[in-house]
Amino acid sequence: MIKKDVAYDEIKKDRSNNVMKKEEKIAILQDIVRIKSVNDNEGEVAVYLKNLLESYGIEGKLISYANGRDNLVASYKKGNEGKVLGLSGHMDVVAAGDESMWSCKPFSAEIKGNRLYGRGTTDMKSGLAAMVIAMIELKEAEKKFNGTIKLLATVGEEIGELGSEQLTRKGYANDLDGLIIGEPTNYNLMYTHMGSINYTVVSKGKEAHSSMPQEGYNAINHLNEFITKANMRMTQIAETYKNPILGKTIHNVTVISGGNQVNSIPSQAKLQGNIRSIPEFPNDQVIALLQKLIDELNEETEYRLELTIDYNKIPVKANPASSLIDCIQEQFKRPLPLVGAAGTTDAAEFVKAANEFDFIVFGPGVATLPHQIDEYVEIDNYLDMIEKYQAIILSYLA
Ligand SMILES: [Zn+2]
Repeated sequence: MIKKDVAYDEIKKDRSNNVMKKEEKIAILQDIVRIKSVNDNEGEVAVYLKNLLESYGIEGKLISYANGRDNLVASYKKGNEGKVLGLSGHMDVVAAGDESMWSCKPFSAEIKGNRLYGRGTTDMKSGLAAMVIAMIELKEAEKKFNGTIKLLATVGEEIGELGSEQLTRKGYANDLDGLIIGEPTNYNLMYTHMGSINYTVVSKGKEAHSSMPQEGYNAINHLNEFITKANMRMTQIAETYKNPILGKTIHNVTVISGGNQVNSIPSQAKLQGNIRSIPEFPNDQVIALLQKLIDELNEETEYRLELTIDYNKIPVKANPASSLIDCIQEQFKRPLPLVGAAGTTDAAEFVKAANEFDFIVFGPGVATLPHQIDEYVEIDNYLDMIEKYQAIILSYLA
């Protein structure tokens, strides 16, 4: 029987040997779900995990992103040289939304049957906790392997992959041979995902009375020209370049504003757009296409359009036949499906490291549940992934 609302430290007290009990593993996950890290405050999760790892003799290091927002890097090395396997998860969660719509409080980590409910249970504190516990159990059992397990716990994944960008820039991913990102994939292996670009176009015109448009430049009309041409060209791109797993490039203008008064020619208008990119037509080319379009329009004298790229995450594709994937498949009777996804992950930043490495997105939780009301993880799935991560590590670092 699982004791409710009891913190890990309390449960650990009545343990007689080194073997972590199932109740403790669940309590660790509950503890970190109860830490509210909504696009902020990841430092509290980082300190919790650092203390936990250090209580088992695994050293960790906090890397501050901002006040109260720390990444955590922790390594456990055995043998000489050997490969470095990264395990990565983000510590931030998205907002709970309308809390009255939840059937239990989103940060109470309530258990009902085989389900542990709460914001971040699936996306992705269960994956993160499973990785940390896998490291601890390998250490406690003194399992033999040759190499380094390197935990990379990140901040701000949901709002721009801030932590992985910072860690990569500081060189923390340069020594990786392999990387597992524990985002929820529910026994699928996600080896590729789309990129994402957010952009803004500002249109500057000249104000005039609406009865005398020839005295001004209509900023909304210019923006309208841009939308028509951008949609046309992005449709051509979508028809020309296709990815067998991810499909085609997606473009949408999603936000628009402009003008002040109904009887004035508008001097200002603005739009935002989002693009989901594929490796066959990468981000650089998408951005160059948009800039070329703006330049062409600006050549017609009255145009004053300006493009800003607000967010630029590249599409990623790992080798689907890598030894890392083999090590995972070995653990299952039937091969797990290799899949792709539209959403981006920290992989989009980590792959910018100086050296190339194999990676895979593979973690507990249901891929369709992130960001939803009544998010949960199946406890069996979480506990199983702790075992699977250990087996994968031992195989990869054999
Ligand atoms: Zn996530």
